[in-house]
Amino acid sequence: MNSEPARILVSHGNSGVAELGDGTRRRCQYRRSVGRPYCGDRVLAEPADDASLVVTEILPRDNEFLRAGPRGRKQVVAANLSQVCIVLAPAPKPSRDLLERHLVAVESMGSRALIVLNKSEQMATTALSEVGPLRRIDEYRDLGYDVVFTSCKGPPGVAELEPLLERETSILVGQSGVGKSSLVNVLLPDLELQTGELSRVTGKGTHTTTSTVMYTLPCGGRLVDSPGVWEYGLWTLDEGELAAGFREFRAVDEPCRFNDCRHAGEPDCAIARAAGDGRIKPWRYEAYRRLLEQEG
Ligand code: GDP
Ligand code: ZN
Repeated sequence: MNSEPARILVSHGNSGVAELGDGTRRRCQYRRSVGRPYCGDRVLAEPADDASLVVTEILPRDNEFLRAGPRGRKQVVAANLSQVCIVLAPAPKPSRDLLERHLVAVESMGSRALIVLNKSEQMATTALSEVGPLRRIDEYRDLGYDVVFTSCKGPPGVAELEPLLERETSILVGQSGVGKSSLVNVLLPDLELQTGELSRVTGKGTHTTTSTVMYTLPCGGRLVDSPGVWEYGLWTLDEGELAAGFREFRAVDEPCRFNDCRHAGEPDCAIARAAGDGRIKPWRYEAYRRLLEQEG
């Protein structure tokens, strides 16, 4: 049979919508023997009947985007995201270490983090120094993260963000109220049209209020929208993920005295030494220590 490569745009229990190479969208069914693909999965599919496809293979994933499910278990939201946009705003004020936690999670899933400061039209009136991470924008840039300003209520709009979404598959994450749905609406002027088409293909309403959906941006990139993503918390990060998620720790090339050093005050710790002499920003090291205590 002639299997074709396709991309899963939305996935429900036993079926979903796949997009073929030429852009056409088809309903597709899953087989128990192949498994259930996630939104974003690349698959091989073959015709099942005139209207629908059947998935014959789920291709290897670049990464899986996870969130905390029931009982703290990891739950896959989407696959193959090249970029995770962490959205912050002056209000609701980000809680301490939230951005660090999100950055670690993105590093650990093997994707790229982009920091989006929304409601930026309010930033002239809010003292940035009161809003933890917002006063450290340049330091995040030093660490190699892109930081862009957006507003859904005025300039600069999404002009800084849009070019960074081209050729990427992105998702917006962040606390409830920072403006994720507003950004999705600005970035996707034809949101209703796309939702309508997906519903037409599945033959029933695609429950965009509860489903994770991959949309196509006008610039050609992809945007995954997932309601409630990460708002109820991340999975518990383990110690290995934490240390590896602080990317500048990896640049410290001398070893700690102990192989299993947690960098939590042990004698002769290379990370503590690097924080002491400024190779690691002391506030990042302190955030690491706090996260280690909370997660461990
Ligand atoms: P979400 O919970 O992250 O999806 O946030 P919403 O998109 O629902 O936005 C929460 C509130 O912030 C709404 O009242 C929006 O109108 C408002 N909002 C979103 N973006 C902006 C912005 O750029 N500036 C201002 N002032 N308000 C915004
Ligand atoms: Zn150490």
